[in-house]
Amino acid sequence: MSESTVRIGLVLPDVMGTYGDNGNALILRQRLRMRDIDAEVVHITLNDPVPESLDVYTLGGAEDSAQRLATRHLGKYPGLQNAAARGVPVLAICAAIQVLGHWYETSSGERVDGISLFDVTTSPQEVRSIGEVVTEPTLDGLSGKLTGFENHRGGTTLGPDAHALGKVVSGVGNGVGDGREGVVQGSVIGTYMHGPVLARNPELADYLLEKAIGRALEPLDLPEVTQLRKERLRR
Ligand code: GLN
Repeated sequence: MSESTVRIGLVLPDVMGTYGDNGNALILRQRLRMRDIDAEVVHITLNDPVPESLDVYTLGGAEDSAQRLATRHLGKYPGLQNAAARGVPVLAICAAIQVLGHWYETSSGERVDGISLFDVTTSPQEVRSIGEVVTEPTLDGLSGKLTGFENHRGGTTLGPDAHALGKVVSGVGNGVGDGREGVVQGSVIGTYMHGPVLARNPELADYLLEKAIGRALEPLDLPEVTQLRKERLRR
């Protein structure tokens, strides 16, 4: 892509985006603008077909019924699937992992077909996973720890084509007892971490941005953020 304006797709914020997840798109935009790179957020709602021409996409978490509307829309307009097939980065939070999998079962036991961007399936667990989660990333290019807030009943099982985003240090993660958190498959990254996750983990934001613009970015020195992260992790 040319380095004109970087276009960030905020996918279905009208039905997905619990716990401030829509903030992930704003964080991507802000981290580009702070480096003097033009960026804009493109809202893709249930009234819009999903464009495949954007530079990076984010999807937030959702309740079961909203999640189902999103699943139907993404199945009908395969812009996200086409973009991912070209290697465009996508960030999927919580319910969005489930929607991007082969299928998920709702809390009432109904099975819904997903869009199969992830080789995963999700079933409800006895106990809801709620609380802080800390992981050690297993994705090349990320160091340090990832942190976020999880709140999900679904437990996600990874198939052979899907890799974890991290190893759980504390908290639950994907919820099937394998000590793994999140999903990585090609350019698509999923995590159960809300926060929004990119506010709490700026290196993950820059990882996605570097993939979006196809080059390395100079570090952003924000000592207040570094300090805050250290304090939170210590607790
Ligand atoms: N409804 C899904 C679950 O409970 C996702 C919840 C969420 O996105 N916070 O697993």
